Amino acid sequence: MSETTKPDPIPKELFEMLSCPVCKGELRWDDGKRNVFCTKCDQRYPVKDGVPILLPPEKKD
Ligand SMILES: [Zn+2]
Repeated sequence: MSETTKPDPIPKELFEMLSCPVCKGELRWDDGKRNVFCTKCDQRYPVKDGVPILLPPEKKD
């Protein structure tokens, strides 16, 4: 069982429902880094079991 083409880890419909919790920007899947990033503020979010973990970054103040 070897797949030459990687399946889309996250369905497009799911992405259309999601937005960046920081700036409400559009999110994209980064196939190289295997995570999700915001096209506006470039914040990155981990993906677990195909589900983006959209937690805002910790504030350091
Ligand atoms: Zn953002």
